[in-house]
Amino acid sequence: MKSRILAALAAMGILPALVLFNIKIYNYRASAAAGGASPKVFYCVNDKTQYANKASGPVPSESADVNENENDENYDNAEENDIPENKNSEKKTYIKWVDFDIPVKVLRAAAKIDIDTHTNGSGTPVGWIDLLSLLATKYGGNFSLYKEVDLKYFADSLASGKKGEELTSNLKIYKYYTEAYGAVLGGMVGKYMKTERAEDGTITVSEGYGLRVYSPFARGYYYSHSDDFGKSRSFGYKRRHLGHDMMGSIGTPIICVESGYVEALGWNMYGGWRVGIRSFDGKRYYYYAHLRRNHPYNNLYEGKIVNAGEVIGYLGMTGYSRRENVNNINTPHLHIGLQVIFDPSQKDGWNQIWIDVYELTKLWEAQKAPVYLDEAANERFSRSYMTYPETPD
Ligand SMILES: [Zn+2]
Repeated sequence: MKSRILAALAAMGILPALVLFNIKIYNYRASAAAGGASPKVFYCVNDKTQYANKASGPVPSESADVNENENDENYDNAEENDIPENKNSEKKTYIKWVDFDIPVKVLRAAAKIDIDTHTNGSGTPVGWIDLLSLLATKYGGNFSLYKEVDLKYFADSLASGKKGEELTSNLKIYKYYTEAYGAVLGGMVGKYMKTERAEDGTITVSEGYGLRVYSPFARGYYYSHSDDFGKSRSFGYKRRHLGHDMMGSIGTPIICVESGYVEALGWNMYGGWRVGIRSFDGKRYYYYAHLRRNHPYNNLYEGKIVNAGEVIGYLGMTGYSRRENVNNINTPHLHIGLQVIFDPSQKDGWNQIWIDVYELTKLWEAQKAPVYLDEAANERFSRSYMTYPETPD
């Protein structure tokens, strides 16, 4: 009954507010600050009902490392079995799902204001996450309503010293967006130290503020792609594609998008040779899969710190096999996934949150790392990488 009411409310577009106030239905005390729901999608393991208006949701993914071996059964059985609630743990409040579909033109425009106001030395610096959150709140998450004049209004208001909270009448939704977008975008604009190596070997180090992520494809290597997030996949069992495929040539150097720690490395029956890199703030997990057979990585090991811009491996077609080092992917491509994590339980559970990075790849395109071949090592290395103020020594 509750489900039917909620579904009807979701269809009417008023579920978000209701979820925020009526969260005990789900045994979650999701506070307004923690969101508990996105305006478009709410999903809860206790209810096992998904309210979504598009083909996305935290279902087992090609990129979910927990899909391996015996864990598959947990997923397969998940529909039939009740999900045991952890009675011992305190009830926590954190965001359960994020729809990320901000068009790249809006991302670029907001990032430009952020960067300009942080580097022109006058006025109050304006954060792009605040800008995007104000817009999302105004539009109810529907960026097809975007108007440049709205962005300018929010930018001018923030630059004059007003706080984001003063510019919206829907504080709860605004806070949800600042937290959700903060997790997705938190590392992508900010201070950096950039190291560049010229062809003659000269090293230049410069400090700056701006975009500090790279395209996963090295400069001079090309890809084709489309917005394939959420499409159906059937290897193993039916599930949704919670990542983004970038079709390219085998051996293309794959570049670390954002700095972080190597958290996972090795064979995954879906992703083949894959690497997972966690951002320093712990909120983003970048998953690069189907890397090259026989020689997938460039000097990686678990726990290693990798800088944005460095070569982490090479494009290939490995995966879809329980046996290691098998090329079972038909079209060579990089599968890149971006998981956001608000609570440790979301990392490997089946309430994972994966983001559609299609628009983000266009933003990342602004910075491509040139590479060179070190013949002795038989590796390609980058001529350009960034360290962040928070990068550990
Ligand atoms: Zn894929």
